[in-house]
Amino acid sequence: MNATPPHLRTAEDVTRDLGTDAAAGLTAAEAAARFARSGPNTLPAARRRGPVRRFLAQFDSPLIYVLLVSAGVTAGLGEHVDATVILVLVVVNAVVGFAQESRAEHALGALAALASTSATVVRDGRARRVPSEELVRGDLVALEAGDKVPADLRLVRAAELTVDESALTGESAPVAKDPAARGDADLADRAGMAYSGTLVTYGRGAGVVTATGGGTEIGRVHRLVDRATAVQTPLTRKIAQFGRRATVAILALAAVTFAVGTLRGQPAAEMLTAAVALAVGAIPEGLPAVVTITLAFGVARMVRRNAIVRRLPAVETLGGTTVICTDKTGTLTRNQMTVTAIAAGDRRYTVTGSGYAPHGRIEADGRPAADPALRECLLAGLACNDARVTERDGTWELVGDPTEGALVVSAAKGGVTDVPERLDTITFSSERQYMATLHADGALYVKGSVERVLALCDTRLDASGRPVPLDAATVEDLAAEYGRQALRVLAFARADHDADRIGELPRLVFVGLQAMHDPPREEAARAMRACHAAGIQVKMITGDHAATARAVGERIGLGGAVMTGRELAACSDADLPDAVERVTVFARVSPEQKLRLVRALRSRAHVVAMTGDGVNDAPALRQADIGIAMGRDGTEVAKEAADMILTDDDFASIEAAVEEGRGVFDNLVKFIVWALPANVGLGLLLTAAILTGGELPIEPVQVLWLNMTAVLILGLPFTVEPRDEAIMRRPPRDPARPLLTRALTGRILLVSAVLLAGAYGLFHWEHAHGGSLAEARTVVVNVFALTLLTYLFNCLSLDRPLLWRGVRRNPWVAAGAAALIAVQAAYTYLPAMNAVFRSAPIDAAAWGRAAVVAVASYLLVESVKAVPRAFGGGRGTLVSARAARSGRTLDP
Ligand code: ADP
Ligand code: MG
Repeated sequence: MNATPPHLRTAEDVTRDLGTDAAAGLTAAEAAARFARSGPNTLPAARRRGPVRRFLAQFDSPLIYVLLVSAGVTAGLGEHVDATVILVLVVVNAVVGFAQESRAEHALGALAALASTSATVVRDGRARRVPSEELVRGDLVALEAGDKVPADLRLVRAAELTVDESALTGESAPVAKDPAARGDADLADRAGMAYSGTLVTYGRGAGVVTATGGGTEIGRVHRLVDRATAVQTPLTRKIAQFGRRATVAILALAAVTFAVGTLRGQPAAEMLTAAVALAVGAIPEGLPAVVTITLAFGVARMVRRNAIVRRLPAVETLGGTTVICTDKTGTLTRNQMTVTAIAAGDRRYTVTGSGYAPHGRIEADGRPAADPALRECLLAGLACNDARVTERDGTWELVGDPTEGALVVSAAKGGVTDVPERLDTITFSSERQYMATLHADGALYVKGSVERVLALCDTRLDASGRPVPLDAATVEDLAAEYGRQALRVLAFARADHDADRIGELPRLVFVGLQAMHDPPREEAARAMRACHAAGIQVKMITGDHAATARAVGERIGLGGAVMTGRELAACSDADLPDAVERVTVFARVSPEQKLRLVRALRSRAHVVAMTGDGVNDAPALRQADIGIAMGRDGTEVAKEAADMILTDDDFASIEAAVEEGRGVFDNLVKFIVWALPANVGLGLLLTAAILTGGELPIEPVQVLWLNMTAVLILGLPFTVEPRDEAIMRRPPRDPARPLLTRALTGRILLVSAVLLAGAYGLFHWEHAHGGSLAEARTVVVNVFALTLLTYLFNCLSLDRPLLWRGVRRNPWVAAGAAALIAVQAAYTYLPAMNAVFRSAPIDAAAWGRAAVVAVASYLLVESVKAVPRAFGGGRGTLVSARAARSGRTLDP
């Protein structure tokens, strides 16, 4: 094999050397053999930390240091049982942290695989779409606008091929490619090569794979960043920061109390114990882990509902979505086109049959038709076409664009199946809105949107096939009539063109219209209602005709004002925000205009989710708060720009993702509101005890016990808590609002105060009424355990009472409650526990007193929750201030 790098050699030379047929590619057998030798075409993953390292990392936290030091000191003081208990609990803590982290990684690990790209490979002379991982050296790969280059390629063909190589070179201007180029240039200037990871922005081409996986240039430069290990979002960062600050503050407080106590003459050992108890009790060490897990589980649930999150922060943003801008074709509709009506000559025809099977007839007035103008219209549809429809095992399958597939089928129903050889093509794009082909018999065919094609025509064919003057208004009226029936309309024209290139388009003869039906997706109307109920506006943005767009919108419950791309272009930047607020359907819009729409909406402080599939949608996807790419029909360029990918291209999946996003956020808030009072309460209790002097109401090992049992056992249900049924009947959350509103902070402080009063009060009460120190401390631990339990029920909903219903919808709540009561009974009555934790059996009356605190706490919180319901129309603390400000209605 030649050792000269491929960019220095000719395409023929490289192709020959790799044993590839320049037209037919490799054989499937050869490709399989090479794959067995080379392995998959994937970048080597960044070296993951091994399990041992990850386990050890669990010990890397200030709290653990405090505990390890205190275990050492305790052992030094001869308290070996205590020292052992602390060490055991430290290890348990690490095991739990390790398990949680692994679950989060597992939930996210699958994402990277799901978001893999595909490529068009030619093997045995046939082009197929395969996952990029399957490519081997020597494979012949076809490229077109929107593709991600799947491996390093020596180009063999290129037509206006332009590639964005910024991923590799950092240079953002797209570069033109030329297979003839060869020479010792910098990576960025090698026009004869296309490198893995770069994006095709324009044109088409083909190349032979010269390197795969880690052997590619990008594999050499970068190691794939392992996305699974970095579970970071603005929210997790904020919470981690909060945790660090709290830790520092509490450690400082503990140090101060230690110093003050010792100066006042208390024994240093006792003060150290108190300081350790304070640190252990007050530091919210479990918080970041639960937040991460909740996010990861949310992502996993979204995958199950066909939405792949590419950037984790999207999970948080999604829940705050206020506007969804969605494509029509393929997202609200199925993108399964069937021509049902044709107009050609002076006649109108109906087409029977459905799907891509060419079974059906073209009729006029109930009789089969075969007029010359009709034939010409069908031929134009078949000639100016890149789609193919093939039969496999009795079912008819489409390869290519559904709009074009429908035209192949209608032609076949009219008996037109053969096309003269094609010499030249102008490909369809949403900006151009037409496609043109030139054929060996001198015929030039154009198909496209009615407006665009009519503008190119002066004459039309009459029924017998003779050109007569064209009345464009009549054709436009007819197209609008089809549009009102929710049909997508294409216009056709032809010309005799004596050249072997198309060049400048000549004036054309209009030959007819074909109108196709595209059924709405079953779920679209329901998802639309759900969005509206949730205070989320939906806007349809389509390249299709205004009448078609309006009719399709009405069928799925999206009525309202329509604006065309032309009106949009005439609208000034100053007027646009008002217009976009009012309009629901944007028709004949070009991808560049999508960018203006996103900007206008964002200027109104909307949180915008925007779908897109083409190369030109990428800027709008990036600009939107949530860019959503189509997983099935979208280009790799769009996917690369997106925050989220829909595996089924379905609008309903966007709604589902928003719902999950809201659920994730809700559960996080619930968990944090539930978890913090334990820390604040313990902190207050210990500070109070230290300041007033006397016996500590709770010892460090007992605080650790609470952390290991109540907090873990009762915290678990939050990670699997189902979404509130009412979650999509609330207005969107205001992203500017803090996680904890003032009302919620007040609630946390209220419960902390109840814990302080209950624990401190009962500690002294038990003591004063003849209870031993051990018994009094056991009551304190049980006050915390029981109050956290009743408070869990408070937190199942942040704004409504939810007792039994909460238990029924989340079985883990009942399981957690039962488990907690069991471990607290063990803690209180088992002699071994009594020995280790210095707990003591207590009588029923003592339990009753602890329960009174817990129940009182529950009732207090419920009455506080009821206050906004009584005054605020039942929306509690989650009413979006901004929704009210911008005048959006809160209820459907
Ligand atoms: P959308 O995807 O929003 O439905 P498109 O940009 O794909 O809109 O299409 C806009 C218009 O361009 C259509 O209404 C149709 O008239 C025309 N059109 C669509 N696909 C093709 C095609 N393959 N060839 C020629 N014209 C097309
Ligand atoms: Mg389209």
